Amino acid sequence: MTNTSMIQTDALVVGAGPVGLFQVFQLGLLDIKSHVIDSLPHPGGQCIELYADKPIYDIPGTPRTSGRALVASLLEQIKPFGAGFHLGQEVSAVAQQADGRFLVEASHGTVFLAKTIFIAAGVGSFQPKRLKIAGLDAFENTQLFHHVDEPARFAGKNVLVVGGDEAAVDWATRLAQAGPEQAQSVTLLHRRDVLQASAPVLARFDALRNNGAVRFRVGQVTGIDTEDGKLSAARITDVDGNTSALPVDRMLVLLGLSPKLGPLIQWGLDMERKQLRVDTEKFSTSVPGIFAVGDINTYPGKKKLILCGFHECTLAAYAAAELIFPDQKIPFQYTTTSPKLHKLLGVGADASPTEPEGS
Ligand code: FAD
Repeated sequence: MTNTSMIQTDALVVGAGPVGLFQVFQLGLLDIKSHVIDSLPHPGGQCIELYADKPIYDIPGTPRTSGRALVASLLEQIKPFGAGFHLGQEVSAVAQQADGRFLVEASHGTVFLAKTIFIAAGVGSFQPKRLKIAGLDAFENTQLFHHVDEPARFAGKNVLVVGGDEAAVDWATRLAQAGPEQAQSVTLLHRRDVLQASAPVLARFDALRNNGAVRFRVGQVTGIDTEDGKLSAARITDVDGNTSALPVDRMLVLLGLSPKLGPLIQWGLDMERKQLRVDTEKFSTSVPGIFAVGDINTYPGKKKLILCGFHECTLAAYAAAELIFPDQKIPFQYTTTSPKLHKLLGVGADASPTEPEGS
């Protein structure tokens, strides 16, 4: 670990779900800069992973929105505060330093030195569900993938996509489509003959299937073959119990995600049934300076709702401001009337949006 890769920040928000995003906003109003980290490659938490296109009816002042639209609005709302985003990274260790700040390590070697931490980790970090096949994990990120960062890695290859939901059907379709990233062959494998995807995605898939550009098989991967240290075939067992080998260069396993609380459990914070105990004045955990907001926390009367998380963010931000600016009185101001808040928000006559931290 070297200091050159260390990011110093007033606040580190762990989790870019709806509550983590709104935490950035509330911190920003108090002139507190934040960095946000999430294990997923995109912000939005459960809203995007679990119900992106379903309607939500209980966001105050918004009669109807959707997971995706809510996240888009939150991202728009926090833009003036220029938070640093570190996506596709999971926090691992935390250690409090002599000066009270927290040294936080994340995957990929990113290190933060933060005055305060806001754990907005929801139900945990979403991890891809994996196939339990002996020897398969050795090919992770070379021939085995659980999401697509670079579609070009599938171009001209024999691809097996495993899964039957929106993501699996959509990627099977995209990789089979004519273009620079077109695979040599694409097979979609699902354990049932019913695919669960939206109508437009299914229509595109069916069109390609009808003209032979993509194949669909019902069955399960039960083994692999290797040749010269490379994955050469997937052994597929069909519903009648017959097993055959399908030559593959790439396997894209899209079986959905399951949440894992992960290393946060080892941070030594008071917990109750896998949730972080907080008070309802500051939403502080048992370690001063580490706050917990949203679905990850628990207190008497807790409701796992987005609007409850938003309220928690407001009080936690005020509590953090007292730690970050110990010599200042923290003013209470309305966004409607405060010129200072207008300046921070980049609206009105004094508009000058905040530069992204570290830029
Ligand atoms: P999450 O949305 O879970 O986000 C947490 C984020 O933290 C995730 O992105 C995760 O990847 C990340 N993370 C976790 N651990 C780590 C780590 N160690 N390192 C890095 N990143 C990490 N609520 C409502 O108010 N109204 C509704 O209508 C509604 N409908 C729902 C429908 C469904 C099907 C479901 C499942 C939930 C619904 N909810 C609804 C609940 C709502 O989605 C949650 O209350 C909300 O998502 C909680 O937000 P959050 O930011 O606390 O956590």
